[in-house]
Amino acid sequence: MEPPEDTLRRLREAFRAGRTRPAEFRAAQLEGLGRFLRDNKQLLQDALAQDLRKSAFESDISELIPCQNELDLALRNLSTWMKDEPVASNLLTKLSSAFIRKEPFGLVLIITPWNFPVNLTLVPLVGALAAGNCVVLKPSEISKGTEKVLAKVLPQYLDESCFAVVLGGPQETEWLLENKFDYIFFTGSPRVGKIIMAAAAKHLTPVTLELGGKSPCYVDDNCDPQTVANRVTWFRYFNAGQTCVAPDYVLCSPEMQEQLLPALQDAITRFYGDDPRCSPDFGRIISEKHFQRLQGLLGCGRVAVGGQSDARERYIAPTVLVDVQETEPVMQEEIFGPILPIVNVRSLDEAIDFINRREKPLALYAFSNSSQVVDQMLERTSSGSFGGNEGFMFLTLPSLPLGGIGNSGMGRYHGKFSFDTFSHHRACLLSPSGLEKLSEIRYPPYTNRTQQLITWALSSRSCTLL
Ligand code: NAD
Repeated sequence: MEPPEDTLRRLREAFRAGRTRPAEFRAAQLEGLGRFLRDNKQLLQDALAQDLRKSAFESDISELIPCQNELDLALRNLSTWMKDEPVASNLLTKLSSAFIRKEPFGLVLIITPWNFPVNLTLVPLVGALAAGNCVVLKPSEISKGTEKVLAKVLPQYLDESCFAVVLGGPQETEWLLENKFDYIFFTGSPRVGKIIMAAAAKHLTPVTLELGGKSPCYVDDNCDPQTVANRVTWFRYFNAGQTCVAPDYVLCSPEMQEQLLPALQDAITRFYGDDPRCSPDFGRIISEKHFQRLQGLLGCGRVAVGGQSDARERYIAPTVLVDVQETEPVMQEEIFGPILPIVNVRSLDEAIDFINRREKPLALYAFSNSSQVVDQMLERTSSGSFGGNEGFMFLTLPSLPLGGIGNSGMGRYHGKFSFDTFSHHRACLLSPSGLEKLSEIRYPPYTNRTQQLITWALSSRSCTLL
């Protein structure tokens, strides 16, 4: 195997030689990625089943189809996205051409987590390749089945002079980060996000941080409890709760809690049967370590639904907790598993205050028959994404950006946002080499007349007159 420092040197040289810049080269890489997805669909589904016991259907809708959609969109729009973007000029630059050029950063590092290990690796990769970068991929070492497919099979479909997969955990990643990259795209926990940002700062490397945290879900008294329970159940227990944007906890009144509990139990039984352990549609916890952490959280508050677990299978039943204290671990850390605590609040104002006293979440959900309640929640809080009477369906729209704010991250991607994230927006102004007489007005010594003229020419009013 090639030593990692040689890999980085090789990729940098390929970028300097301009290999990744032509549109045809970018399109060929994206097409290669498309062939990888089609040729290895079964292999990827098997790997996801091995890692997370993800069903083939959930693998399709949350991993493979989103990658294919992003690819198709990028291929369809590549030439438009790559075009220089003309911008308005002022009177002093009227004879010049002003535009924004989207140019690749250079050598990009993409570091990814284990919970949607195909989607969260290949969707950023689409953006990085479309934007004409060379890429080092560092998949999660925890989703071992998928890591193996990405390391062994994916490079066969891409130009290896411009693309490489580097394997490893924290130690290897820390070594990678000592090297200078031109852009780092990280998806993972806020804790590691801080390590990434500190390492990037040493080289002044720009970063996108797609992080996590606790995403609240407010349920108003004015709603149909069964409808809310159906939606919350699907989004909370999808991928056995190991979803960054999953509703992490419910905020509602004690009266609504009484109605929600039987409705949640009903939805869980309809979706996953009397014993969810036997359901082909319910996943498993990624590792022994993560299982132990979640097992510990089951001791918080009181179990109202579920609560069963089996260490041999890394199974934790879809669980609802009540009587939970704010100070308990389940309300202190991101749950990232099939456990849903309910916290009581007396009003919308109290719910908003509860949310605003905490870190800004990656996603925020509000359920109510009253559009004013949903609007109030949207207006008076902040989060990466927002779902009104909805779970994380916003992820299915490449027209919407995915990204956090504050503790849940910085930057955004999906669709054209990905292309823009992986492109430097270079400000360009091309002026005629002649016509110096017109330029002379700018130079000292400044007279009263030239000062007035230039001030006027620079003002926005002069532009609107033209
Ligand atoms: P993690 O932060 O532990 O690991 C992510 C990546 O960082 C992995 O590739 C890992 O090898 C690497 N890493 C781990 N420790 C490191 C260190 N000390 N130095 C350098 N690199 C290190 O995250 P995870 O457990 O894989 O994923 C779960 C977290 O990711 C949750 O917080 C979740 O909310 C978040 N997440 C966010 C999104 C999003 O789109 N915002 C998506 C999925 C997951």
